[in-house]
Amino acid sequence: MAVEKTLILVKPDGTHRKLTGLVIDRLDAAGLEMVGAKMVSVSEKLAREHYKALADKPFFPDLIKYIRGEFHGFKDHRVMALAYRGENAIGKARAVAGATNPEHASPGTIRGSFGRITTTGHFENVLHASSDEADAEREVKLWFRPDELLKD
Ligand code: UDP
Ligand code: MG
Repeated sequence: MAVEKTLILVKPDGTHRKLTGLVIDRLDAAGLEMVGAKMVSVSEKLAREHYKALADKPFFPDLIKYIRGEFHGFKDHRVMALAYRGENAIGKARAVAGATNPEHASPGTIRGSFGRITTTGHFENVLHASSDEADAEREVKLWFRPDELLKD
């Protein structure tokens, strides 16, 4: 199994509900090694770049508002960005997160325990986890400068 890097974001609903420590604990328990960590005030530009593959989806404008904390009334656009390394890190982090739709996520996963669907139909699912190798590589580079990551 290949050693991979992956990007995790504790989204504004996660930071707001004090779930950052829980996310870190679960990723630790999954055997992953943290190689980068920082609080980020997410600009509109960064949000759009991060989610550019979803730009044609009807929920895209709300997704940008969500990742920037605007649904939660944050003025500081607070997200915690984490980079992890490990064998099969991408799959392991996705397993910790659970399915995208909190209603479909297993109860033992973070999204299954703490995610919700808003009355407007949007998923609030606590964290982002890169979905495949290409995304993980692109996303780690987008959120972290090389000198902000522990060396391999
Ligand atoms: N999303 C949503 N409704 C959908 C699909 C996605 O609100 O029908 C949001 C949700 O916050 C999700 C994000 O858009 O985490 C990115 O979607 P993606 O399909 O990449 O899911 P993920 O990789 O986050 O599991
Ligand atoms: Mg995705």
